[in-house]
Amino acid sequence: MSERALRGTRLGATSYETDSGIDLAPRQDVAYSCPNGHLFEMPFSLEADVPAAWECRVCGAQALRVDGEAPQEKPGKPSRTHWDMLLERRSVADLEEVLAERLEVLRTGGTMYAPPIPPSAPKSTGRVAPTKKSASAAPASKAPAAKSPARPAKKAPVKK
Ligand SMILES: [Zn+2]
Repeated sequence: MSERALRGTRLGATSYETDSGIDLAPRQDVAYSCPNGHLFEMPFSLEADVPAAWECRVCGAQALRVDGEAPQEKPGKPSRTHWDMLLERRSVADLEEVLAERLEVLRTGGTMYAPPIPPSAPKSTGRVAPTKKSASAAPASKAPAAKSPARPAKKAPVKK
């Protein structure tokens, strides 16, 4: 780091041991410029694979190498979206499951939320309009009909 390390540091942040007698690894200073006009240099080992871009030390933007050899269009990391992060935690199959659960809760009126009824819509009698499925799946005639013949059978007199 030599004399550069003295600039803008606080006591305790840096060792002030001198570099005398120390062989520093051969380095190169690579200049980067960020889209917001900041110029800065980063020291790299000569053997280092110098990245084409570096986070700007001033504003954090993506700064590119100044010496033209840089912009090798690597398929760089695309920025992660919220969707990407979600997919890291759950698979699509998981999400389908969760979605189905939530929809079921909504359909059965399990939350406080009731969709606003537009004034032009026909008046519904109940708070939750029954879906076509549940209306046709539970015909009133079937269930009682099956039960009623069962009752007399149970009450069949037991002979002593
Ligand atoms: Zn910048």
